[in-house]
Amino acid sequence: MFKFIGLIPIIGLILRKFNKILQFGQFNHINRMIMISKVSIKSVVLTLCTLAGLHLMAQNHSNRMLSDTIDVVNYELNLSVTDLSSQTISGKAGIRFTTPLTEINQLILELKQLQVDSVKSDNDVLLGFTHVGNRLSIYLDQAMSVGDTSLVYVFYHGTPFHEAWGGFHFAGSYAFNLGVGFESIPHNLGKTWFPCVDDFVDRAFYDYHISVDNTNYAVCGGLLQSISTMCDGTLMFHWKSDRTLPTYLASVAIGPYELVADTVSGEAGQIPITYYVRPSDTTRARGSFINLPLITGIYEEAFGAYPFQRIGITGTSLGAMEHAENIFYPNGSINGTLSDEWLYAHELSHMWFGNKVTCASDADIWLNEGWARWCETYFREKLYGIEAARNNMRPLMKNVLQYIHTKEGGYRPLSPMPPEYTYGDNVYDKGGIVTHALRGYLGDSLFFG
Ligand SMILES: [Zn+2]
Repeated sequence: MFKFIGLIPIIGLILRKFNKILQFGQFNHINRMIMISKVSIKSVVLTLCTLAGLHLMAQNHSNRMLSDTIDVVNYELNLSVTDLSSQTISGKAGIRFTTPLTEINQLILELKQLQVDSVKSDNDVLLGFTHVGNRLSIYLDQAMSVGDTSLVYVFYHGTPFHEAWGGFHFAGSYAFNLGVGFESIPHNLGKTWFPCVDDFVDRAFYDYHISVDNTNYAVCGGLLQSISTMCDGTLMFHWKSDRTLPTYLASVAIGPYELVADTVSGEAGQIPITYYVRPSDTTRARGSFINLPLITGIYEEAFGAYPFQRIGITGTSLGAMEHAENIFYPNGSINGTLSDEWLYAHELSHMWFGNKVTCASDADIWLNEGWARWCETYFREKLYGIEAARNNMRPLMKNVLQYIHTKEGGYRPLSPMPPEYTYGDNVYDKGGIVTHALRGYLGDSLFFG
């Protein structure tokens, strides 16, 4: 309810301005471009997110989310994926959590399709649990209240779920997760490879300890801490992320990767860049990503310092997916040319729009995807000039004005977007145009700050 009161006037202003732009020649305002900040654009996004979040709170008043009762602080994920041909995983997930409530006796998580073998407390005491559907209810050995922190370990195994796109995939000699699904509702699919509070709100730190066959590599978010050879000859990769993330942005990819390493001089210092690709793609990777450091600079100048520790691109058979510091990027787009440069420009922009600041629910996913779509135009403007930006924006406008209402059941506001259209053209294309109109309405001095 609050969002309708708060956002309708804003969206109304944007759309009125949008109509005006259409009437009087779209792009003159782009020429005013130049300025840069680190504050205003973030303020706009944060304001929109706050409004969206308040709406979500009202929306979920009678349907509480797990993150209303549990706040996960850290996931320590010990995952064994040593035999890819079996298409199974086994894991031990250490979950450190607190609660905002005065008393809880259960830890409720989600885990999809995998079987729970046992649950233990930090003191090695077996805990009772039920696992019905995706819902894993763990009975704590002592009640917790506000300020208490507890740690439980969940032991599990099985064949992980995947849909056509999202979930945990085995693809030949590679395995990887995609943190959201187009078909699954809710779309969050962290639950396909570890027990978790699987929504857009709960943010936690991650330690990944991934055991793989000694011919393989494991690539996760964060920074690589160590590679250990275990007694049985397998390798354990330890990655650690010191930025909090919602579950859909956690990631793992396994396979015979080769690393192409680079760095970019960022606002806050040197940023390591990793391209983990198939051995046959190393030369192509250098060609396809040649402008990634430049695009990073464009975004830093516009939106502020890169918000994570590493820029990571990892080749997968499906993608692209903006996992934090570990973008899963389709192998076919690592072709040695710049033909799909727009795609990693889109995914990289998510590190600011979506990963640093995340929509509170999929009803407001345009705050992720609309802004990333707009960045596809913005990087072109800065890298290739205004005409390239106009040529990119015009088809979006045509699609929005001419077709979207016929494809997605009428004229839709961007928010709240029904879940069946979370990843539709309204969210992406209209979201990109509304962002563009917002820039035009505010002017660059306010938009960028
Ligand atoms: Zn996106």
